[in-house]
Amino acid sequence: MAAERPLPNLWHATAPSAPDTRPLVGDVTVDVAVIGGGFTGLSAALHLAEKGASVAVAEARMIGFGGSGRNVGLVNAGMWTKPDDLVATLGKEAGDRLLSELGNGPALVFDLVAKHDISCEAVRNGTLHMAIGDEGLKDIRNREAQWKKRGAPVEILAAPQARTISGAEGFSGALLDRRAGTIQPLAYARGLARAAMAAGAKSTRKHLSWQPNARATSGN
Ligand SMILES: Cc1cc2nc3c(=O)[nH]c(=O)nc-3n(C[C@H](O)[C@H](O)[C@H](O)COP(=O)(O)OP(=O)(O)OC[C@H]3O[C@@H](n4cnc5c(N)ncnc54)[C@H](O)[C@@H]3O)c2cc1C
Repeated sequence: MAAERPLPNLWHATAPSAPDTRPLVGDVTVDVAVIGGGFTGLSAALHLAEKGASVAVAEARMIGFGGSGRNVGLVNAGMWTKPDDLVATLGKEAGDRLLSELGNGPALVFDLVAKHDISCEAVRNGTLHMAIGDEGLKDIRNREAQWKKRGAPVEILAAPQARTISGAEGFSGALLDRRAGTIQPLAYARGLARAAMAAGAKSTRKHLSWQPNARATSGN
């Protein structure tokens, strides 16, 4: 089976090569079959394999083919939706839990990068939420207050500081979130796949992947 050709984008031009994967031949029996080799499936496969489960990942195209290999690379600690709005929508218990998971998200990602020595241009200097005009400033001040009452290390930068730190003109301020950072997303996805394979997994391109201790139920 021919390998997928790299996509014509920056991430494919600069990522370390993809792990060696092969087409599924025959059937396999595993504890958990994961469909999709993006961040979600790869992280699930890694954590399951580390706990001793047999895992197979089915990827239709190639590791990181979806949003995981094409996104901006921001490792955010929250969503565009403001914290209070999330709680209003989900209720206090689920909302607070989601906010806590989101807030801890960057630590999880950067810990995985360090633990598995994933080469993905990881930088944890925080991220900036830029404000345009008075309305934008009001919006990030509101966002800042909502995060601060939850103990998050966020701060407002005034316009001159926002300009200096971003190199961009025309913003009325910025919200700096020190929990966050950036990665090369395709490189991270490929690194997660490598880490899962190193945890006992076996990998295939197009259709099935890795399974420590899997039992083949039929063979071609
Ligand atoms: C333009 C853009 C920018 C973004 N920027 C950011 C950002 O900066 N920071 C951030 O945190 N998030 C960002 N996101 C969101 C982020 O990319 C997604 O949340 C994330 O990639 C979701 O990962 P996933 O593993 O759930 O899905 P995907 O990455 O989409 O992975 C799904 C995988 O499943 C495979 N698949 C689908 N169907 C099947 C099937 N039937 N059988 C086998 N395999 C199948 C696909 O080929 C794909 O590889 C951005 C998204 C977009 C679109």
